[in-house]
Amino acid sequence: MQRSTTRRPPVHDDHTHHGDHHSRRDASSPEIRAQALEDLLVAKGLADPERIDAIIQRYEHDIGPMIGANLVARAWLDPDLHRRLLSDADAVLADMDIRGAEIEHIEVKANAPGVHNVVVCTLCSCYPWALLGLPPNWYKSPEYRARAVREPRAVLAEMGLVLDTDTEVRVWDSSSETRFLVLPERPAGTQGWSAERLATLVTRDSMIGVARAGDPTGP
Ligand code: FE
Repeated sequence: MQRSTTRRPPVHDDHTHHGDHHSRRDASSPEIRAQALEDLLVAKGLADPERIDAIIQRYEHDIGPMIGANLVARAWLDPDLHRRLLSDADAVLADMDIRGAEIEHIEVKANAPGVHNVVVCTLCSCYPWALLGLPPNWYKSPEYRARAVREPRAVLAEMGLVLDTDTEVRVWDSSSETRFLVLPERPAGTQGWSAERLATLVTRDSMIGVARAGDPTGP
């Protein structure tokens, strides 16, 4: 569902189609359509807006990308966990009692020297909510969905991730059956760090594959 915690005006409100900050939206945009659907469900008594907001709050603030980040940090420290995540992530998540929306079947793809993985959903916006929280807006944009497959190297460079020309880029197209998580490379200079400290370097974007895990000497 595409919405933010800030409630937008109902779709039939003329304001939506005037002020310049809405000029790039039209009635066919997913945001407008999602809001129209929600308004209709609420009007018919089929959905409770407070409950919808509570779910969004939970995925934005309580789950965020932290569950995925902790998993990655632990895998950096534990070669056996790393191996099991790559061979059967579903079993690992079940063992850790990690459950929730959109992670019925997860595959983990590890970056390594010379190999970089990036995740997209070309059809819509499939995304491992229970590991990463809500998908960022750009992930749902038609431009990212089309270009990430066609010219991933250029898209990554535009997002600030310039890869060596001899690095192989592997693009994983999510679906309702399979979601992907990128296991980024552990940054250099983090020897001796605890899992908790390492997890602070693991950003949402690094687990989608559009960034590296944070630089420990960075800001
Ligand atoms: Fe999708």
